[in-house]
Parts: sequence; C-alpha cells; structure tokens
Amino acid sequence: MTLTDLSIAANAKMLPIQEVADRAGIPEEALETYGKYKAKIDIASLPPAVKQGQVVLVTAISPTPAGEGKSTVTVGLADAFKQLGESVMVALREPSLGPVMGVKGGATGGGFAQVLPMEDINLHFTGDIHAITTANNALSALIDNHLHQGNELELDPRRITWKRVLDMNDRALRNVTVGLGGPSQGVPREDGFDITVASEIMAVLCLAESLDDLKERLAQMLVGYTYDREPVTVRDLGAAGALTLLLKDAFKPNLVQTIEGTPAIIHGGPFANIAHGCNSLMATKAARRLADVVVTEAGFGADLGAEKFMHIKSRQGGFDPDAVVIVATVRALKMHGGVDKNALKEADADAVRRGMVNLAKHVDTIRQFGIEPVVALNRFVTDTEAELAEVMEWAKAEDVAIALTDVWEKGGTGGLELAKLVQQELEKPKNFSRLYEPTDSVEEKLRVIVQRVYGGADVQLTDKAKKQLAEIQKFGWDALPLCMAKTQYSLSDQPKLLGRPEGFTVTIREIIPKLGAGFLVCLTGDIMTMPGLPKQPAALNMDISDNGNAVGLF
Ligand code: ADP
Repeated sequence: MTLTDLSIAANAKMLPIQEVADRAGIPEEALETYGKYKAKIDIASLPPAVKQGQVVLVTAISPTPAGEGKSTVTVGLADAFKQLGESVMVALREPSLGPVMGVKGGATGGGFAQVLPMEDINLHFTGDIHAITTANNALSALIDNHLHQGNELELDPRRITWKRVLDMNDRALRNVTVGLGGPSQGVPREDGFDITVASEIMAVLCLAESLDDLKERLAQMLVGYTYDREPVTVRDLGAAGALTLLLKDAFKPNLVQTIEGTPAIIHGGPFANIAHGCNSLMATKAARRLADVVVTEAGFGADLGAEKFMHIKSRQGGFDPDAVVIVATVRALKMHGGVDKNALKEADADAVRRGMVNLAKHVDTIRQFGIEPVVALNRFVTDTEAELAEVMEWAKAEDVAIALTDVWEKGGTGGLELAKLVQQELEKPKNFSRLYEPTDSVEEKLRVIVQRVYGGADVQLTDKAKKQLAEIQKFGWDALPLCMAKTQYSLSDQPKLLGRPEGFTVTIREIIPKLGAGFLVCLTGDIMTMPGLPKQPAALNMDISDNGNAVGLF
C-alpha cells in the first residue's frame, strides 16, 4: 500500500491529551479538553512565566502550488529537537477549508512529521475558524440592520468597507448585492465575500494579547465612512462586546501533538499572501513560557510570511526570532530554473542550478535581518543524487549552512542534522534588526520591502491607491506596519516571473487600513482576498468510509 499522509496519521498512536499537557508542563486547571486528543489552553491558569523560549522561524523559498514542506519540516525539526533532549514545542497555524478542498492540501505537515489528529485539524478542528466567520458576519448583519433601522450614524452604503466572509474558495461570492427584495428586506448595497482567513478578525485574534486587548482591537476596526466621509468603527456601532463574546473560546490556543508526541499549539490561520501569515501571538507566547525552544512557521516564502513575522508579529510581540530555517526543495528549484510545473518529477540537475537564484535571494533577505539562516533541503524520493548535489555544492560555495532533511520519511530522526545546525545558530549572539520602522512614510516602507525583500527596482501606486493613501494620511493612520498582499509564486507581483526577477516595479492596487489589526494591507498585482477553486479541486477525491473515516484527505 502506498503511504499517504492520511494513512500514516491513521496508524499513529496518539497519547491522551492530558499526557501531552503534562509533558508540556500545562497544569490540569489550564486544560479544557475537546474529546480525547485536543484541548484548549486557558492561558490565565498557566503558571507564571519564568522563561522565554527561543524562537525558530521556519520559512521557505518561493513555492510550487503543492507547498515545499514548511509545516512538515517545522514538525520534524521539533521532533528532532525532542530526540536531542531539548524542551521543545511547535506553534502552527490552523488549516483553512479553502485550500483543503482546493489545491494545496492540509497544513498539518506530512509523512512521519505530522500533527495529530490530522483529520480533525484539517476539517473543523475546535471550531475557531467558524467562530471567526460568525463574528465577522455578525458584524455585517449589524451593519445592514443599522442601515435598515434608520442609519443613525449616517453610514454611506456605498462606502462600507467591511465584507462578509466564508471559509471556502468561492469565486462566485467575490462581488454580491445584498438587501434586494423591497423595503422590508433591508437597504440594497454592493457587498462581497473574502475567505475567512483574510478577515480582519482573524488578524485581530492572532495579534491580540489579552481578552481586553481583543475587545479594544475589535472596537477599533473600521467598517466604512459616513456621507461626510468620516470613519465609522465597530465602537460606533456598539458591537465590540458581542464580537468578543463570540470569540471567547476561539481566542484560547489549541493543544495537540506530533506523531512523536511533541506538544504542538495550533492557533489562528491567516494566509501569508493575503494576510499576515503567522499563528497567533497567544500561541507563540504560551509556547515560549512552556518550552526552551519554539519551532514556528510563517506562510509561503521568506518574502511573505517571514517578512511579516519580522515587521508585524514579532515586533508587536516584543521578541525577535533567534534562528531561521529556509525550506527548499529540488522540485521548486527546478520550477525556478524554468521547468514546467507538470514536468517537475523528471531529473534535471541543470534546472536546479539555474533555479538556485531564488533560494539565494531568500538567504540574502534573512541575512539582511542580521540572522544567518539554515537551509533545510526537504528531500523527496524522486530527487536524484545529481540534483541534491547541485544544492549542497551551492551552499558550500556560498557558505550557507544546509542539512538534507528526511523528516517526511523518517520523522524526527530525519531532521537531526538540521536540528544540530539550528542549535549552533541559537547559541550565537544575536544581531537582529528590522528593515523599517512603522513611523517611516508609507512610500518608504513600500520601497524597503520591494527593493530589499523582493529584490525589485521600484514601486508605483494606482490612482485609487494614491487616493486611499491620502485619506489614510489625513486620518493619521499611516504610522502602521504594512501587510503586503502579493502572489506567493514570484518575488515580484507577477506570478509568472519565477527564479529571481530583477528590475521589476511592484504596483500597489489598493491600500486598506485595518485599524484593529494595526496594519495597512497593500494589495499588489491581481491578488484576490477570495480565492477560487482549481479545475480539479482536491474535494473531488474525498470521501468517507463505511466506518466513518476520512478517505482521500491527501
Ligand atoms: P508547506 O507548509 O510548505 O505548504 P507542507 O508541509 O504542508 O508544505 O507539505 C505540502 C505537502 O507536501 C504535504 O502533503 C506533504 O505531505 C508533502 N510533502 C512535504 N515534504 C515531502 C517529502 N519530503 N516527500 C513527500 N511529500 C512531502
């Protein structure tokens, strides 16, 4: 039988969640169990913080549509640390049903480096994403009701910026009209749906540091403008209390385990191409209190998740990453070397060599933050010795630490060499610095990201973005970090420009203030905040067996 992520996960023996909690030092009173293998952690009942574990950030080169194994390496690296006797925890994002039903697969790792119970985590887990969807849409309902009941705030229906959400890829809902059907059905207006992971509430939940902070951030969220173009917030609508109440359980981090019994916290799931791409601050902070080393992941390539981890999440959380791992695969390098994505299984060491420029740029980016990255070459059985040798030789010539990583096949044992290299980095003195300050002008922040992180020449704003920026400046919202929304496939804003494009100009289509999250979303290229399903959605391979088990979930 061929091993799949699902079959490996189904045959793994799980520890009762109480035992995992016990190993992690989480007392019984802080544990709220959801069945046998999942629990929520009540942070307020954790013992006082006596330590702050070191943070290892796992990022990647610009990926293929299948993903390059970041979650897999994150889990495998943590299991390897555990084998080396370290006190370690994993912190990951929660999977969204959009990609699960769409193209990419789950977000629970793969092979023998997975978090369990993978079926639950990939489907509805503990309901956090549904709670976020509900809170988001409750706000939409309150907005429409406000219009219907006389519109005391004089909210202009044409200038409502708050959208509805759904945790699914559903292009048919990108633009909708609501309130049709006559006076008793509400006020007609244009609306639209985003995927839940792009909801500002997802970002707020991931960046809030206490229930009070959550409520305050929700209150600050902008919902639109009045006829006089004055901003209207959730506070004006009086809805922050209800939204916080809807999120009270979703705000608590979830505890699960890896196949090797390493404690894992999975919480929050913003995408890194259309949102800030990191698991919740509450999860990372809890893990740092409990373990000496926390292995965490930021989505897509270092141009997306890692950049935002540095400038948004860790800045706000008041910590720096202590080490960075860049995951690379032969298949993605071949793609960057010009091979068609349907021919990536064919051996082509020359293409690997040509594609190295992409990895080189991501290494350069991490070095700009003052961190010496470690490359994890995530090995696939189809990789040839000649292809692997290309990468190893490049690393040697460029003086880049690299480990051939076999965690998909061997679990933690396949990541021991990587863990030892990361340990060496963790022992070195730190020299971390960020590339911009939030108080820099928006144009300056954009230029820094485009030139230093993407390796581009310049940035231009559409007329619409210029108008939005003028408004942002008028209201004094410009001293916020930027949350770039950009394709994950290219370092530029054009998905087809693979490898290491140069001389390109990034176009900023829109700048959207997210005052609760505390950042300005900059939409580039054609990036969509509601993705579509592919021609052959993964959902079409899924089923359920007679005994109620998942079939075809990767
Ligand atoms: P990312 O986090 O970068 O998106 P994942 O870790 O989710 O990537 O992996 C994407 C898919 O690729 C998963 O289905 C996983 O099982 C598979 N995968 C990852 N690494 C390997 C490997 N070395 N060999 C085979 N399959 C792998």
